[in-house]
Amino acid sequence: MKTLEPPTMETRPTPPSDDAAQVIDTSKMNAGQRAALEMTESARDAASEKGSFAANLFMGRYELDRLLPFPAQSHEDRDQGDAFLARLEAFLRANVDPDEIDRTGEIPDEVIEGLAKMGAFGIKISPQLGGLGLSQTNYCRAAVLLGSYCGNLAALVSAHQSIGVPQPLILFGTDEQKANWLPRCAKGEISAFALTEPGVGSDPATLQTRAEPTADGQHFVINGEKLWCTNLLKAGVLVVMAQTPPKLVNGKERKQVTAFIVDMDTPGIEIAHRCRFLGLRALYNGVVRFTDVKVPRANIILGEGKGLKVALSTLNTGRLTLPAACTGLAKRCLEVSRKWSAERVQWGAPIGKHAAIADKLGRMAANIFAMEAMTLYTASLVDRDKKADIRLEAAMCKLWGSERAWEIVDDTMQIRGGRGYETAQSLKERGEEPIAVERFLRDCRINTIFEGSSEIMRLFIAREALDPHLKVAGAVLNSQLPMGVRAAAAMKAGLFYASWYPQQWLPSLAPVNAQSALTKHLKFARRTARKLARSLFHAMALNGPKLEKQQVLLGRFVDIGAEIFALTATCARAEAKLKEAKSLEEREALLQLAECFCQQARLRIARHFDGLHHNADRAGYKLAQGVLSGQLGWLEEGIVAHKK
Ligand SMILES: Cc1cc2nc3c(=O)[nH]c(=O)nc-3n(C[C@H](O)[C@H](O)[C@H](O)COP(=O)(O)OP(=O)(O)OC[C@H]3O[C@@H](n4cnc5c(N)ncnc54)[C@H](O)[C@@H]3O)c2cc1C
Repeated sequence: MKTLEPPTMETRPTPPSDDAAQVIDTSKMNAGQRAALEMTESARDAASEKGSFAANLFMGRYELDRLLPFPAQSHEDRDQGDAFLARLEAFLRANVDPDEIDRTGEIPDEVIEGLAKMGAFGIKISPQLGGLGLSQTNYCRAAVLLGSYCGNLAALVSAHQSIGVPQPLILFGTDEQKANWLPRCAKGEISAFALTEPGVGSDPATLQTRAEPTADGQHFVINGEKLWCTNLLKAGVLVVMAQTPPKLVNGKERKQVTAFIVDMDTPGIEIAHRCRFLGLRALYNGVVRFTDVKVPRANIILGEGKGLKVALSTLNTGRLTLPAACTGLAKRCLEVSRKWSAERVQWGAPIGKHAAIADKLGRMAANIFAMEAMTLYTASLVDRDKKADIRLEAAMCKLWGSERAWEIVDDTMQIRGGRGYETAQSLKERGEEPIAVERFLRDCRINTIFEGSSEIMRLFIAREALDPHLKVAGAVLNSQLPMGVRAAAAMKAGLFYASWYPQQWLPSLAPVNAQSALTKHLKFARRTARKLARSLFHAMALNGPKLEKQQVLLGRFVDIGAEIFALTATCARAEAKLKEAKSLEEREALLQLAECFCQQARLRIARHFDGLHHNADRAGYKLAQGVLSGQLGWLEEGIVAHKK
């Protein structure tokens, strides 16, 4: 019997550079895997020369000066954000009942109209085009606010402008496209992003929706079906990813994916189904069918064949809204947990005094501070430069933030006990405060799945982490290349590693410019980045090209990188806040918060390093293949099996 190979990093939805064929050995892949790799790699942006803070960690470079001093929002920017947030908060309090929205599965029209009126659908669109022109930081702050109150509204607003029409047009639109669609979007015409298909989830390179050019080349005709398109039922305009005719690139036929702006009133568009979910019950999400939908060539974003680049770049910045919304929900959970832990007395003491509950509360507070620090830092990079390379930072915020948010909401349910599991309506009917922790839990679960699942985020980050090594040594290991090319590459790689590798063992004596007791943790992070780089290099040397199949192992490297980023952002933000602290108590509480986070992060990092050498990965993989082959069918006996 043939055992299944683990899915490889090459099937990730990340984007190939033109030199992918040089650095990645595709000889052992099947045709589908190779095509997916070539396509995603060609859509991948080359990393900037200087790399980003997170990217450089994996090469042992710890550039603390990128985060310290922690980027401060200017007074002007903050004031602008505050004014909008105050209006948004007042509107939510006066007009929105999130539990009612959850119960009915509908967002009242007046709520959508009210949001549109205050500009909530054009937060980042420039004022010249009718938007509010707020910064990424203020947009993230709005997502925190919405996420804390109503997940359905957070999803509505964010699917529209983080991944819907505004974001790809802000990044890649022509002046004409911007002038045509952005004022409409800013006024409240809702948009959506249609990439996923029934057979195409995490691997967008294989999408089936087709767009064929008309004889005169002025239009494209779209046919196909898209699944789970958020906002679809309310949308006036969509971004649709479709396959256009293949092109010959270096003598080889290459699939082309193209991004189209499609007005919903174009003939041939049918909403086939409204999807309903565990949580986010008022999501206007559905299946959309395209039958001979004629779209002008002028509606192509960026260019024919550049659709995956549009999709992946859109998601790179767009997915930053998600950890911001997660931070909002997590803060709401902290509020609920804090109050209940103080109020609820069991076994003679408030439950917050019992160590098992205090442990959850402490971890919750520490992780929220870190989530917010990571997101604010990454948002500040976009504010400095709209085209900044935030791929890794945003992916880490999304991965780390959505996983922490899930733990936090789960802990909140545990802290609330039976009341956590009870619906807000039921609590209200029997006279208790209607705190909707069960709704929070349902709404939160999707965050580790959409906009890049946790598994895919780890592969994406691992691909980027390995990129410098692939560039230096990939050709040496590529059995498809001629021996001469490999020998020349080996010489170059040898020279590079002869200087780079010893540096990863040298202690850094440069001072760390932090003022507080957190300095020791920043020094630890600097040491750990080098240990991470060494360990990654050892794993590469040991596993060779097979490393990309070791997803669980690679995941540990990614998690270490994310923890170093979280720890650094935490310390840097705490340093900045310490300077603003008005009392000794405030200062001490802040130090306690950051110190606790650092201690916990260091323990997690130690566990991940330990897992590199002591793990049951192989046994687990082998067992899973036994399960897949049906060898353990008896384990499923004694149940009411799913009807075929
Ligand atoms: C509520 C909701 C809203 C959504 N909104 C939109 C939207 O607006 N627009 C849009 O285009 N899409 C949208 N989606 C789709 C969403 O982005 C996908 O669900 C997501 O990309 C995962 O795809 P999938 O569900 O098909 O899972 P699959 O890709 O089938 O994956 C199933 C599981 O396998 C894992 N997996 C897959 N490949 C690998 C691999 N190579 N290695 C390791 N693990 C792997 C995944 O992580 C996942 O755990 C939405 C989905 C939902 C549920």
